[in-house]
Order: sequence, then structure tokens, then C-alpha cells
Amino acid sequence: MSQAFQAVRGMNDILPDVSHEWEFLEDTLRDWLASYGYRQLRTPLLEPTALFTRSIGEVTDIVEKEMYSFEDSLNGEKLTLRPEATASSVRAALQHNLLYPGPQRLWYIGPMFRHERPQKGRYRQFHQCGAEALGFPGPDIDAELIMMTARLWKRLALPPVELQINSLGSPEARLRHRARLIAHLEAHADLLDEDARRRLHTNPLRILDSKNPGMQALIEAAPQLADDLDDASRHHFETLQSLLGHAGIPFRVNPRLVRGLDYYNATVFEWVTDALGAQGTICAGGRYDGLIPQLGGKPTPAAGFGMGLERLLLLRQEAHGALPAPAPDVYLAHSGGALTAFALQAAEVLRDAGCRTLFHAGGGSFKSQLKRADGSGAAMCVIIGEDEAAKGCVTLKPLRGQGAQQEVALAALGAQASALRAALAAPAV
Ligand code: ATP
Ligand code: MG
Repeated sequence: MSQAFQAVRGMNDILPDVSHEWEFLEDTLRDWLASYGYRQLRTPLLEPTALFTRSIGEVTDIVEKEMYSFEDSLNGEKLTLRPEATASSVRAALQHNLLYPGPQRLWYIGPMFRHERPQKGRYRQFHQCGAEALGFPGPDIDAELIMMTARLWKRLALPPVELQINSLGSPEARLRHRARLIAHLEAHADLLDEDARRRLHTNPLRILDSKNPGMQALIEAAPQLADDLDDASRHHFETLQSLLGHAGIPFRVNPRLVRGLDYYNATVFEWVTDALGAQGTICAGGRYDGLIPQLGGKPTPAAGFGMGLERLLLLRQEAHGALPAPAPDVYLAHSGGALTAFALQAAEVLRDAGCRTLFHAGGGSFKSQLKRADGSGAAMCVIIGEDEAAKGCVTLKPLRGQGAQQEVALAALGAQASALRAALAAPAV
């Protein structure tokens, strides 16, 4: 079949056969975030490019090669499709003075855009849900953020995911570590690849994140951030570990965990699985105390996380298979013509009684309509023919279970149908 248009590479249509999985996930997320007092923030998909270069960092994968940036052809403004939403959240909080009355717990959900090589669990338009706790300095909020995510994995019945944590320390400690790191890397300059050489003086910490096998020995031998940690960060990190211990959440301290965005300091964490190949991180976050002042606000501590919804769904499916699609309660079949108005009215009566009702449209024999009813997965069929309509009645036919078909007056249809629905839904004894 010739196809005129295809979706942009790496950008997926979410089709009706799977969209219920997304709805289930979104409902779970809303409920879960509300249970921790987070309130939703919805920001535009387009932001000024400088917002991201300034916050994520000029020398990062995202800013260097993954952003969809363009100039508005009408006024020359430099714009970018958001690659993540922490910068947008902080921008909105500052623009609208959200922090004036005190700290804020915010969350977001929606599409993000990065020009990456598409593969399982990695797309060019993907979806994130994230939480941002703005104005909270202590490790208590770091612990709560991590405990929240642990609860979500339980709610989604995910297979085990590993929590890795690290501390990046204060900006001063990072500077000290940076100097030692540069000295170490310069001493072995011949082992550095092109990316690493470019980053040596701009963003040496990111070199530790390199996946290049030829550089792993060098990275292993590099000075560890932990040895340069300032006392405050060390204490913060120890308290966090103790709180996680009390909460019964297992974790692994990974001294190489640095994150690919520049705004993080002190606590960073990732939830990792090996069930999704190279796309193993389902959730990542940490503290970003410097970001709010960097974007023009008063010094305000903050922490948060973002998670990839495609990866959550993939992982859930690996463990449990596809979620059954929801079916209508009632399929309404009718002989059409002069009875159409009566049939439409009967369908409304059913919906008034809380029954999900699929009204047959487009005519056809009862035989073909009943076939459709079966195919729809409906629990029952309501049939309206000449005889029934003349008496103000309909026929109610269970499509599952043992019940017999019955004739019901339109006035009693709602009550009868919802009773039958409840009986069919009840587990068999
Ligand atoms: P990765 O190392 O996998 O590229 P990242 O460090 O770039 O991830 P973050 O910017 O921290 O990712 O985004 C948070 C989460 O969003 C990731 O842990 C992942 O679950 C998801 N994510 C990031 N990029 C993509 C993508 N291109 N496609 C699907 N999900 C993604
Ligand atoms: Mg990435």
C-alpha cells in the first residue's frame, strides 16, 4: 500500500489498541502525585533556546546535539522544543512568583523532544512525568522524592529496579575535584577520545559518563568525587542514606553517577533496570540548588526527578504482558429507520445509569449487528426491533455468563442494565 505521509522518524503514534495502557499509567501517576501533595504545572512545548543552553549546559549531549531548535521565521526568535521540563518548571515558577509564599511541590507530564538515534526505549518524541520540589534544602525532601518513586514501582508492579545514588557535592567541591580530574586526564591525554578532549576543559566531569570501552580503565582510575566532598554535602548524603535505610529502600552508592545535565549538585540518583537493554534508566533526578539563581531567581534550593513513560510501560509489559483493553458494557443493536430516535434515547438512558454504551450506527441486519456486539467485547446487548419499540420495550441479552435474555420497559432499562452489569462483573463463586 502506498503511503502518502509517515510520522517523523522516532515520533510515535499511540494507537487506540494501546492508548488504554497510557491512560492507566496517567491515572496512576495523577493519583500517586496527589497523595504526596504535588500540584500539576503545565508549560508550553516551546521555550526560548537560551533557557536550555543556560540551564542544561552548553557542553552537554542534549544541548550540543539533541535539541530541536529553530528560528521563528516571522520574528527571528530562537526557539527550542523542550528536551526536558525542569528548566521550564523553574522558568514558570519565577515568571509567576510561585515561590513568593513559600516552597512548592510541582509536577508535570508530557512530550519531550530530543534528536537521538531511535531504538527500543529511546525516541525523538518521548514522554516524561516529573516532580520538582522547589525551596526545600534538606535531605528529607531527597528521601521523600526517592520514597515516592519506590512506591510508584510497587503500584505499577514493576520487576525489581536498582536505586543508584551519589553526591556531586557543593559547587566549590566540584571545582576542587574538577582540577584534580583535569590533571589526571591530562596526564593520560593520549587515551582520550575526541569527545573527551573537547570536554577536558569545559566539562571534564561528563567524561566520567563516557561509554567508550577504550577509556574505562582511565575513568576507573580517576580521582573520586567522594574524596573531595565538602562537609555539608557529606553530611547531607549520609543523612539521606540513613533515611533510605529507615524507609527500607535498598540502594547502591555509585561514585561514577554524574548525570548528563549540568544543573545538578549534591544528591543525584537513578533507578536502573537491565531488562531494557541500553535504555536502562527509567527515572533520574537529584538536587539542583544552583539552577533557580542561575535563571534569575533568589538563591533557592530545589530537587526533583524525571521519568520516561515509554520505558515504564515497556518494563511493566515485560513483566505482565499487555493490559486488557476496556470493553463497553452494552452494545445497542436496532433496526434503524423510524426507530433510530427511540434507540438513541435508549442509549442515553443506559449512559444515565452509568453503562458504557456503544450505539450501533450504519444499519445492517441484526445478525451482523450481533456479530459486531460480540466482537466489541460488550457484556450485554440491547436489541430494539419493531415489536419491542411498539411496546416501549427493549430486549436485554447477556453476552457473557448464564443469564437469559429478557424484555425490559424503557423506564426500567437503566436499573436492569446496571444490575446485570454488576452481576456479570462479580466473580463467579
Ligand atoms: P539516557 O542516558 O537514557 O539518554 P538521560 O540521562 O538523557 O537518559 P534524563 O534527561 O535524565 O535522561 O531524562 C530522564 C528520563 O527520561 C530517563 O531516565 C529516561 O527514562 C527518559 N528518557 C530520556 N531520553 C529519552 C528518549 N530519547 N526516549 C525515551 N525516554 C527517554
Ligand atoms: Mg540522553
